[in-house]
Amino acid sequence: MQYLVGEFGISFVVVVAFLFGVIIGSFLNVYIYRFHTGKSLMGSSHCLSCGTDLKPYELVPLFSYLALFGRCRTCRSYIPNRYFLVELLTGLLFMGVALTAIDVISMLHTLFIVSVLVVIAVYDIYHMIIPDELVTALLGGVISNQLYLHITGVPMSVFWWNIFAALLGSLFFLVLWRVSKGTWIGFGDVKLIIPLGLSVGYTSMFSMVVLSFWIGAIVGVLVLLIQKVHHQSQPHFKFLPTPLTMKSAVPFAPFLILGYLAILFFDIDVIALLSYAP
Ligand SMILES: [Zn+2]
Repeated sequence: MQYLVGEFGISFVVVVAFLFGVIIGSFLNVYIYRFHTGKSLMGSSHCLSCGTDLKPYELVPLFSYLALFGRCRTCRSYIPNRYFLVELLTGLLFMGVALTAIDVISMLHTLFIVSVLVVIAVYDIYHMIIPDELVTALLGGVISNQLYLHITGVPMSVFWWNIFAALLGSLFFLVLWRVSKGTWIGFGDVKLIIPLGLSVGYTSMFSMVVLSFWIGAIVGVLVLLIQKVHHQSQPHFKFLPTPLTMKSAVPFAPFLILGYLAILFFDIDVIALLSYAP
């Protein structure tokens, strides 16, 4: 496969994509915050604690957070580290997309898709809900990209097979949702898997689902362990708002999205992976 990056030189692409991603990430932060508070996207940015308007040099993505040691210059209250993490994550994702893109149009589509996924993941972690309008936006981006790929030569039958696989994945999640009464996965995941499945296509649908469960299991066990260690050393310190137990409902979207990204960037084939296993 011919990658777009070959035409420009790798270091240039990496730097530009990262910086662009960081800037988009800071807009996503504003969007995430104002989306659930219902505030307008216009207006100046200000400290969430004391309300002081932020100066331009306090709004530089990544840099300002580090320079201010993660605190407001006026009232010294902590700025949620989510702001820094979303900027960094978006920068890294944009870098990955630029490095694996085949052409400019499909790269722009994928940049849009990963941006929406960042918002969905953060939203699901904080609110345990996936807003429908975000899934709709995602579906629009994915269908547009699939139709573009068709114009560049991918047969239309592939598109139909991808739709079939996406619906099959959704049906499987629907069964899990019903059986677990919403504790393993939420109804939002039943919807989210449709655009993601359509995007990875019928050849990678199975791998994406398996990878997301593996990642979820690993993270779940790690959180349980960290919680145990923390609880023993500091009985009054709470690692999560409510302690995680084997029966807890956990936001599944981040794991599904990680499974999707593993396919997008590394094209992992679970069946091939298992056949190598001893
Ligand atoms: Zn403040």
